[in-house]
Amino acid sequence: MEKLFKKSFTVLLLLVLMSFTIPTTVYICLSPGAKKYHYDRDCRGLGNCTHEIKAVSKGSAEGEYGLELCGWED
Ligand SMILES: [Zn+2]
Repeated sequence: MEKLFKKSFTVLLLLVLMSFTIPTTVYICLSPGAKKYHYDRDCRGLGNCTHEIKAVSKGSAEGEYGLELCGWED
């Protein structure tokens, strides 16, 4: 009984951990002037983008690209 409890606890713990580590995908415009990232691929903020639109993790949009969340989507 105790073994079963430990097993389901471990599974539960893993699920919780995974929900924290799965990166959120956001969309960025690869324009040099871009300052925002977007949750919505069809966001009107991306409508102006004349460059390539790339899907990246939220962490890398903020960290590597130094972008912040689009004003239309807070
Ligand atoms: Zn947006």
